Amino acid sequence: MSRYVYDFAQGNKDQKDLLGGKGAGLAEMTNLGLPVPPGFTISTEACRAYLAEGAEPDVLEAEVDEHLRALEERMGRRLGDPHDPLLVSVRSGAKFSMPGMMETVLDVGLNDESVVGLAQQSGDERFAADSYRRLLQMFGTTVLGIDGAAFSDRMDAGDLLDAEQLRAVVEDFKAVVRQHTGRDFPQDPREQLRLAIRAVFASWNTPRAALYRRQEQIPDDLGTAVNVQAMVFGNRGGSSGSGVAFTRDPATGDQGVYGDYLSDAQGEDVVSGVRNTVSIADLAELDRSSYDELLRIMEVLEKHYRDMCDLEFTIEDGRLWMLQTRVGKRTAEAAVRIAVDMVDEGLIDEDEALRRVTGEQVGALLFPRFAPDPGRQPVATGMSASPGAAVGRVVLDSATAVEWAARGEHVILVRKETSPEDLPGMVAANGILTSRGGKTSHAAVVARGMGRTCVCGAESIVIDLPNRRLTVRGGPTVAEGDVISIDGSTGEVFLGEVAVSDPAVVRRLEGQDVDDPVADAVVRLLGRADAVRRLAVRANADTPEDAARARRFGACGIGLCRTEHMFLGERRGLVEDLIVAEDDAGQESALTGLEPLQRQDFTEILAAMDGLPVTVRLIDPPLHEFLPDLTDLSVRVALEDERHVEDEHDHRMLAAVRRLHEQNPMLGLRGVRLGIVIPGLFDMQARAIAEATADRIAAGGDPRPEIMVPLVASERELALVRAQLEQVVATVADERGITLDIPIGTMIELPRAAVTADRIATVADFFSFGTNDLTQTTWGFSRDDVESEFFPAYRDHGVFPVSPFETLDVEGVGELVRTAVRLGRQTRPDLHLGVCGEHGGDPASIHFFDEVGLDYVSCSPYRVPVARWEAARAALG
Ligand code: ADP
Ligand code: MG
Ligand code: MG
Repeated sequence: MSRYVYDFAQGNKDQKDLLGGKGAGLAEMTNLGLPVPPGFTISTEACRAYLAEGAEPDVLEAEVDEHLRALEERMGRRLGDPHDPLLVSVRSGAKFSMPGMMETVLDVGLNDESVVGLAQQSGDERFAADSYRRLLQMFGTTVLGIDGAAFSDRMDAGDLLDAEQLRAVVEDFKAVVRQHTGRDFPQDPREQLRLAIRAVFASWNTPRAALYRRQEQIPDDLGTAVNVQAMVFGNRGGSSGSGVAFTRDPATGDQGVYGDYLSDAQGEDVVSGVRNTVSIADLAELDRSSYDELLRIMEVLEKHYRDMCDLEFTIEDGRLWMLQTRVGKRTAEAAVRIAVDMVDEGLIDEDEALRRVTGEQVGALLFPRFAPDPGRQPVATGMSASPGAAVGRVVLDSATAVEWAARGEHVILVRKETSPEDLPGMVAANGILTSRGGKTSHAAVVARGMGRTCVCGAESIVIDLPNRRLTVRGGPTVAEGDVISIDGSTGEVFLGEVAVSDPAVVRRLEGQDVDDPVADAVVRLLGRADAVRRLAVRANADTPEDAARARRFGACGIGLCRTEHMFLGERRGLVEDLIVAEDDAGQESALTGLEPLQRQDFTEILAAMDGLPVTVRLIDPPLHEFLPDLTDLSVRVALEDERHVEDEHDHRMLAAVRRLHEQNPMLGLRGVRLGIVIPGLFDMQARAIAEATADRIAAGGDPRPEIMVPLVASERELALVRAQLEQVVATVADERGITLDIPIGTMIELPRAAVTADRIATVADFFSFGTNDLTQTTWGFSRDDVESEFFPAYRDHGVFPVSPFETLDVEGVGELVRTAVRLGRQTRPDLHLGVCGEHGGDPASIHFFDEVGLDYVSCSPYRVPVARWEAARAALG
């Protein structure tokens, strides 16, 4: 029993940690009895040991020898035998698929002698020479680190070369190796194998692999497995070939068979996009029996995995071999449709369907699309590789994309085809457009993984790199920097900027009658989500329009109605009057002006949310935000003084600005502190809420306001303000001759509040966690100042993997939330608990809030469906 090496027949699909995704898939297919070339997998453990020690574990050499001997016996051939060589591929395969990131070497075992044996055994000299030159090229680049250009320059007409010419290329390539490494290409097959395995281990740490992992949030310490597998040959003439296929359309979820096939080719040729492929359906004409066999295998795999699979296969002389399978990547559209279709096909239930689609994918379906316009004509059309609508300036290489995006431009990266070197540009771009390659090309696979809009294989586009432009055959010329729009759902490319509109799912949620299978699927599964989830979902909304939209999107109330914007616009004058007022009478009159305006705002929002709770937060920001800038105003007053045109208002304003000026306004006079220092302000807001409620009751409505006091640190603060507020509400109730029962609670957004929550709960009817401020005050950094400065460095150094403003920092901020929940409920078991920070719409954070037992999350209206979905997934576990 070996420690690091497993025969394919020893593993299964659930061992991705140990065998990597590819190894697990090969093992599963082997055990299903599908035709898989035999081989073995060197585990990720061996890779981790290599990365930690800088050398292979001692026992690895012997274990590989042992498995190689078993493979040789089974195949009846020895690795690199001069007369009848066994050749193997050495394939990387990590737990998570990292397309194009890791290295693979084919045809290991060929050398100057065995190439002759291969030619004799196969009776095909051209094939043997072609295989040898492939080995030299792949080994040279991936194992020996020689720049690929050193080889490919000499292979421009590769397809057309005969055996004699290919032998010359082989000699050429050997010279390239000698020249770049100072030694000959290793002739010993076992040494080739050893070096190739090591190269796969080491490829885990290449910069582009590291970048991909960071982008996809794949942990850095997993390592990759290595699969050593007997070669089968797709490059043996017309009755051979290689292909890639999906059991359903990965872009739309449509049923059917999708993929690309290339005859007389090895697998690498299909995905690299260097030659144009035909569709899998055409294989039926080329080789009916292999096609039927492929369809049979796809059915076996779908039934077995109960999911859409993608697969790689090679046909050698009319015989089909399976080289890879896994649960296939897909677009968000395809994900929901496949999930629902599989429910209808009886393969999975609705809960499993919910588990398989992430809230983030649902969020992607809510992104805008190009507005339909039958008159609009595309200048070019390619394949719909990854959906969405992207508008931006044309950039022709990765570095330019990165540079322009960094200065805030929206860019579309346009390339002939992409390779892993283009990754930084693909990350930076809004969309990706290629002139070659199919739905399984590098560009398409990577873009779908990142959720980037992509059109590929727009063949009428000719890129003219030296002149930094592209031309469309029979059409216009587009210079780098010109704006284009690409539609990843239709494959269309438009000149200039195209207006975008709401997608079908949004229109359906808005109550329009749309006939769309994706909208059907989403609405159906959201219904199930609502039945399953424990967390209620509210929205953060400050206007009647947002409140109404949130309600249509399934919100069951408003978790945060900010009142700040109600002090802006034409009301600013009244706010300034309030702030500069020198006596109670002045303050009083400004407040009296503001009250009816606020009352109107609240009435409309309570109407939009009739019957549902609306949590209104009293004014929170420091008042200087409503005043002119100190420096500007000082200069103005100084100039006026110089010219002896003294403006009394400006002078009073300047005095007020100076008085209110603070070194750290975020830590200054704001929130509940305002309510204590300027009691009239909170009183006015409470009166407006109470009057609006009374108005709605009088109009036959069912208003359910709640008053939330921000930035409370101690129960004394809240007790003081609460007494005031209760008195105002009681007065209004008296005046109007009704009873008013308005819960009063607080936002928990300071660490002190969290750790004294048991006492605060004695004067609060509810808590709502303000996780944005709680994150700022726990970490001690300001969200506004910090994002551009040290955040990237902090991420790179692993202080946090994602910004704690995006996903709740469970160890710090989360611990405070946990504490506050425990202490609060200790005092008041019925205390109502929610969260109203941005985290309320973040999937990972939602799972945390579900776990600590909050009653609701609140998020932006557009995120409400995401939160409903993710709350269900949290409840399903
Ligand atoms: P990737 O992870 O980039 O898909 P693979 O390990 O799958 O890399 O290898 C790249 C290509 O090489 C595949 O498309 C596959 O068709 C081909 N290949 C790998 N192993 C073999 C083999 N044993 N025989 C023939 N072709 C192979
Ligand atoms: Mg590859
Ligand atoms: Mg592959």
